[in-house]
Order: sequence, then C-alpha cells, then structure tokens
Amino acid sequence: MRHFTKNSVIAILLAFFLIPSASSYSQSKANDETQANIKIADQFVRTALTDRKGYHLLKELTDMGPRLSGSENSVRAIMWAKKKMEEAGFDKVWLQPVMIPHWVRGDVEKAEISRSKLYPNRKLNIATLGGSVGTPQKGITAEVLEVKNFDELKALGAKAKGKIIFMSRPLDPGLYQTFRGYGGAVDQRVFGAVAAAKLGAVGVMIRSITTKYDNVPHTGVMFYNDTIPKIPAVALGYQDADFLSNALKKDSTLKVNIKLNSKTLPDAKSYNLIGQITGSEFPNDVIVVGGHSDSWDKGVGANDDGAGIMQSMEVLDLFKRLEIKPRRTIRCVFFMNEENGGRGGDKYGKYAKESSEKHIAAIEADAGSGTPKGFSFDSDSLVIDKVQSWLPVLNRTGIDWVKKGGSGADVGEIKNAVARIGYVPDGQRYFDYHHSDNDQFSIIHPREFELGSASIATLVYMIDKYGL
Ligand SMILES: [Zn+2]
Repeated sequence: MRHFTKNSVIAILLAFFLIPSASSYSQSKANDETQANIKIADQFVRTALTDRKGYHLLKELTDMGPRLSGSENSVRAIMWAKKKMEEAGFDKVWLQPVMIPHWVRGDVEKAEISRSKLYPNRKLNIATLGGSVGTPQKGITAEVLEVKNFDELKALGAKAKGKIIFMSRPLDPGLYQTFRGYGGAVDQRVFGAVAAAKLGAVGVMIRSITTKYDNVPHTGVMFYNDTIPKIPAVALGYQDADFLSNALKKDSTLKVNIKLNSKTLPDAKSYNLIGQITGSEFPNDVIVVGGHSDSWDKGVGANDDGAGIMQSMEVLDLFKRLEIKPRRTIRCVFFMNEENGGRGGDKYGKYAKESSEKHIAAIEADAGSGTPKGFSFDSDSLVIDKVQSWLPVLNRTGIDWVKKGGSGADVGEIKNAVARIGYVPDGQRYFDYHHSDNDQFSIIHPREFELGSASIATLVYMIDKYGL
C-alpha cells in the first residue's frame, strides 16, 4: 500500500468532489437511458403476460393439426398466419415460394415379436422415422441384434446380414443440458440405417431419443445414401426399448416383424412466410426473428416449433400494440421445412445474400417454450460484449446470460448477418415432447411462453435502438 501525505489526500478529495467530471455526467445519462429501456422491457413483459395474445394464437394454430412438410395442412397454417399478420397491421406480408421434400408416413406402422415362445405376438410401440422407406405388405421379419453405438455395429460384420439392427443407446440423462444429451444420441436415428444397410441388415430400430421414460415413440429425420440399399427405420417407445433389450437376453433368436407404408413423393411447392414492420429511419437494415412453421406429424408441433413462430410474430405485434416505431426493419420469418430438409432456411439465406438489404441480426426461436434463460450469439466477440452491457435491461424479462454459441438451423443460413442468435429457454422438458404425440398445446405454459415473446422483443428493441 502506498503512503499519502495529509495534504495530498485533501487535494485528491477536493478534485473528486468539486470538479464535475465528464464521465460522471455521461454516467448519469447512461443511467437515465437504462431506466428508460427498463421501462420498455417492463411494458413488453406486462403486455405479453396480460394479453396472452401469442398463446391464444398458438392454440388456434395447433387446433388445425400438425404441419408436416408437403402436407395440405402445412400450407393451410401458412395462409392462416399470413392473414393474422395482415390483421395485426404489419407493413408488408409476403410468401417466398420454395420446393420441399414430401414424405408421407402412411397409415401403417406396426411392429410385433413374431417368433418367440416367451413373447408371442407381443406388440411394440413404434414410430416410422421421417424419410424411411416402407416395407412389403407383409412386412419384414428378422432376428434382432442390439448394439449401443456405431463401433459395436461395425464389429458385427457379416453377422448383421439379414438382421434387424436395434440401436439402443439412450439420451445421456446425466447432463445438465438436454440438447447436449440429444446431440450425443441422435446419430443413431440419422445415420443408423445407412451404417446397418452397409453390413446387409434389412431394417433398423432405435430407442426413442427422449428424456421421458414413457412408451410414446419419437420420430425425427433420417437419411439414406444413394449407393447403399434403403432399409426401413423406426423408433421404439422408451419402455418397449427396455422390454426388447431384456427379451433379447432371454430369447436371442426371437424375430420381429415390422410393417410400414411410408413413402417419399415428388417435391412439393410450399412457402416461407414473411411479415415486417418497415424501419422509419433505416428501412434497409433488417432484424430477423423467426422459427420454422413445419412440424412432425406426431403431436401438433406446439412446442416444436409452433411456439417459436408464434413468439416471433408476437414480437412484431408487441411493437404494434405498444405503438413503438422501430428505426430499422423488423422482420418475422416462418421458415418452411426445417425438420426434414432445411429448404426454407436455404432459400431465405440465398435471398439475404443477394439482397441489397443489410441483415443486422437474425434471431431463431426453436428451442421450445420454457422460461427464458439466455441468448446464444454466433458473432464477433465485440458484438457480444455490447449486448452483455444490456443485461440490466434484458434481465427484466428473465434473461440471465448472453454468450458465444450456436444460433439455429434456419438463421444459420443467413451467413451475411452481423449476428446470428439463438433464443435459449429452459430446456429440461423439451425432449419429453420433441417429435412425438406428447407435443400438444396442453404442455405449453402461458407465462413461460409469453416471457419468451417479451424477452425476444426486448433484445430486438435494443438492437434496433443501438445497432450491433
Ligand atoms: Zn424445431
């Protein structure tokens, strides 16, 4: 510690108290501005929580049923939402045509144990994986080999020929972040059929990728390789996956019969839906907020991603209801076909690249309807530093953090945006519902959902006011 003389201490104190510094002046101005911004954030929260408009619209949307890419219903939902955007008084609403894959589940998806003294005709709860081929009418019948991962699968070698491969590794339940658990298990669903077919297997079953240990099977996308035979692929309910695993230990020669009539039709015409409030000062600066309008055909896609698109629409609607006129253009995009193709995201990304507009930020809401937690930024660290300085404002909506990370599958294609941003709500229950019959409107909590609209609106407000 240094020593000061009495006089020097007095001089320092005088200087500190008597000379009003430029920095203390700008500090109080900044405090005033923060207070004004907090007031706006509080208004977003109050309006969203009180009116619950987005929540009611989500009910209307999901009452129409699921929105699988290429289905009539997916287009009906887009036309409904277009009308809602027009009624809300957005400045411009339009459709961006896009050709998308058209896979249909069909009306047969059955599995049962077909040859076993211990378990005769025991039914298994399955869901056809998105993109899977069907089976002949009488199905495929084969012995089952269980593996936990691709190394075990490869090690089977010639033994896999003519068998159904059962990939049974569960989503790791021991991780705090459920999305990491999902990421660690989803390879079985996406690539299992190709790896099994390479060895001559005739079908693949996976344990549903879920955090809920019920017997509701979860679908999701899977891919084939052109040069490798296409074999049917299904997910088993979690409980039936346990059952089959135990049954195989007692009767390793049991056979399973799988009957599916899913198929892929020619590409279908569909649309991204786009609505905007045009900026009053910088109309060419664009802030995108969006989610995907397609869903799987299990459940009604309330959480994935009806919630995200209704929140995105509500962000603009909150500006309208509070009569806040943005300086920059705020644009809501409903991307089509995120689940099994990503063509809508590709299409908009291409548009953004060729357009003379400047994409400042692109925010994706596709992580469910839980309580707001944070924003994950795919951008320069200076941008992140700037947004972190807004945390006293963002905190008012429940946002705890802003950090570097991924954004989302759709906005990830807007490569020329200054920042691609993922809205991150609490994800503990997300995979209980994901891609299954559990994804119903009833699982949406209105307050948690509406706080999401308010937190994204607040971030958009700050980006509009200060830029990035
Ligand atoms: Zn989604």
